[in-house]
Amino acid sequence: MRIGILGAGQLGRMLTLDGMRLGHEFSLYDPAGKASAGVGTIYNDPDGQHLATFLNETDVVTYEFEHLPLDLVNRIATEKPVHPVPRALQCCQNRTLEKALFRDLGINTAPFEVVESAEALQAATQRLGGRVVAKSATDGYDGKGQAVLDTPEQAPQAWPRLGCDTAIAESFVPFRRELSIVAARGQDGEMAFYPLAENIHHQGILRFSIAPAPHVTPELEDQAQRMIRTLMNELGYVGVLALEMFETEEGLVANEMAPRVHNSGHWSQNGAVTSQFENHIRAVSGLPLGETAALQPTCMINLIGETGPVAEILRLPYTHLHLYGKAGRSGRKVGHINILADSLEELRWRAMNTASLLPECPEFDWRP
Ligand code: AMP
Repeated sequence: MRIGILGAGQLGRMLTLDGMRLGHEFSLYDPAGKASAGVGTIYNDPDGQHLATFLNETDVVTYEFEHLPLDLVNRIATEKPVHPVPRALQCCQNRTLEKALFRDLGINTAPFEVVESAEALQAATQRLGGRVVAKSATDGYDGKGQAVLDTPEQAPQAWPRLGCDTAIAESFVPFRRELSIVAARGQDGEMAFYPLAENIHHQGILRFSIAPAPHVTPELEDQAQRMIRTLMNELGYVGVLALEMFETEEGLVANEMAPRVHNSGHWSQNGAVTSQFENHIRAVSGLPLGETAALQPTCMINLIGETGPVAEILRLPYTHLHLYGKAGRSGRKVGHINILADSLEELRWRAMNTASLLPECPEFDWRP
């Protein structure tokens, strides 16, 4: 099958690498003209001149990036099958729609209000009570997009920092840890769920994922699977979906979803029977889904800014290195390392040791 991917970054690269093993052919289309994937047939097309050619050589279209122009994706959907369904993209591009979808489906999420001015933010913060996180409804930029308010009086200073016309004000969730679930749904409605991952962020960027997350009770796993199953069924979803959640004393609170393969699922390349990338391609090409069970406790470490000492990393007998072929730049994801171990304690030591080799990597300060 000839598969077209909208977006051509590292996710497109890894989808292509896994999908080629299934005999598929890949074309990657980047409407922003910033392709870095380095595999498949690449269309860097900021002027839209090559869209017809790209579509001519694809049987099915998917995407690896949620900030695509929605009208472009809707137009493509009139000509070719697009998976996941464009409505998923639309919801993920706008927190107002996303939170409303969670609420309407009975998916537990932080109490929130939609606000369109500093005054409205102040009033919403007053009503929500306690600490509030304000987030721009659509993508923030240049460090804008989010602010934490301890009191309603902070609204006039916080509002301009969001850099938007519409925002969500939501209650701050006192979470124990951040978890995510990645799942796949096939064209026949078959579903497969990966074990939950525990995610550690630093300066707003995911640094470490540990999977399967330890101390996940069957009830917690069940709650996560119910939430993502509800979302996928409602949307008629085909492909891989990720849901980021907070774990609290009272169970899980959904934060946001991503309609694509997800950084917190990269561990599955080495740590699961079938990677999230292969399962996404299986789903969009109408094939049966692969087994999602974990092989061993796994830790994924993102390489941010630069690749670090590649030879030293590779010398460690337990590392699997994945580089994206991208130039180093501050804050940019340029690769990741998957580490496997026989036990969580061994995993902890291996991850600590690996992290200590990496420039600008925070200490791996985690205990099972
Ligand atoms: P988001 O852009 O929604 O993924 O948020 C980025 C990060 O901000 C999350 O990974 C959390 O660490 C933190 N965060 C977001 N929303 C909340 C919230 N309601 N309560 C506490 N922390 C939050």
